Amino acid sequence: MTDTNDPMANVDSAGLTQATIPPSKEVTATSPVQDANLYQLATLSIHADDPLNILTDVAPPLHVSTTFRYASDPSQLRPFRPADRPGAPIFPHQETPSEHCYSRLTTHSTSRFETILTSLLKNPCVTYSSGLSALHAFLTHLVPKRVSIGAGYHGCRGVLRLHTRLAGTTVLPLDCADDDLHRGDLIILETPINPTGLALDIAHYAKKAHDRGAYLCVDSTFAPPPLQDPFVQGADVVMHSGTKYFGGHSDMLCGVLSVRKDLALPGGEGGKEGWISRLIEDREYIGAVMGGLEGWLGVRSVRTMELRVTRQSETATKLVRALSQALDGVSGEETLLNEDERTVIGKVMQKVQHASLQKRDLEDGWLRNQMPGGFGPVFAITLKSGDLARHLPSKLRLFHHATSLGGVESLIEWRTMSDATVGTDVLRVSVGIEHFRDLLDDFLQAFRALIADFDL
Ligand SMILES: *Cc1c(COP(=O)(O)O)cnc(C)c1O
Repeated sequence: MTDTNDPMANVDSAGLTQATIPPSKEVTATSPVQDANLYQLATLSIHADDPLNILTDVAPPLHVSTTFRYASDPSQLRPFRPADRPGAPIFPHQETPSEHCYSRLTTHSTSRFETILTSLLKNPCVTYSSGLSALHAFLTHLVPKRVSIGAGYHGCRGVLRLHTRLAGTTVLPLDCADDDLHRGDLIILETPINPTGLALDIAHYAKKAHDRGAYLCVDSTFAPPPLQDPFVQGADVVMHSGTKYFGGHSDMLCGVLSVRKDLALPGGEGGKEGWISRLIEDREYIGAVMGGLEGWLGVRSVRTMELRVTRQSETATKLVRALSQALDGVSGEETLLNEDERTVIGKVMQKVQHASLQKRDLEDGWLRNQMPGGFGPVFAITLKSGDLARHLPSKLRLFHHATSLGGVESLIEWRTMSDATVGTDVLRVSVGIEHFRDLLDDFLQAFRALIADFDL
């Protein structure tokens, strides 16, 4: 291909200096359309990457190239040697958005995706090939001697086991004694937590960590924006499996680390950009980057996140309310269900768990402060027996029986399939964007089918 029929040939990198600097260099937004003080989440999701839109396309183009041509003007060639250019951005494209070198470092799509995420999470973000690779990268960065971690997603414990093998890390329970923690140690808090969707108090664990010179990393996968912002309660690092709500369509793997703006490296070196710069540098060698297609899907998907997540949260909370009212025998105008429907639920179900049912914590105030945008779209139901739980998914028409969560499609999982630590009577429900009443009716018809089969 000659330069004349290459659309990028018309992009003069020197002429693009008006474009903004992507997230990894500057912590504060440099373009008004990236500024969370000026625009709401729904708007930032659509426009935060406008400054990186170097072509006339309205929809982001799909770039799959692993390598990128250098400037054709010899005077524009600036060798990539960060050590020779103190203070310069880590990546050349931070000065000119058309400049990328090799896709293990940066690509057009992933840079756009990270730019949007940085605006949405209000702190610098780095993406990875999956949620677990993000956690692995973070542990490699911090190398904590001790990690305090509770129940929750079993995969995170798996990463910790690898890390223990490499670095001799001591794993402590989440509620370890305060003085078991020392300077540079880490608390990993998942909230809302797998598989129940129950919430834990972030501010409590932030204080516990900080009083001891340790750090708090919150796995916020179950409550993406606009549901909660763990930085407000004191988190140092927020991790997401972007595979879930950022992706939102069950078709891409992604991990995200977001680092509080003002964190210095352990020991104080590095200044305010210490953590994020080193994470980006490390990622070049860990190699766990999103592919070009995934980066593109990320941009495509995060545009609608606010709509999807708000609806999913509302529908989940309404379903939980209907089911719990039936179990508590609430009748009258308060409930959406008639007496026959309440009886059906009572015959099959034992319990429903979700943050919206944490009455004492809601009265206490911390839970509402922590989740101002609504509760998570995942909850757990416990049936009257393991056998009923094993059979429920095959009776449902609208819920796919599959692991994972966060997509537009509702999912249910007999949780023992993928997590041996959970009782065999427990099912995890991930609510999609279908209509609330259709989902509730699907539960009712499936419960009726179980009642018939099991002669209840
Ligand atoms: C799915 C999940 C992960 C792991 O993310 P992957 O993208 O599957 O690697 C981590 N934490 C939580 C809470 C999850 O749900």
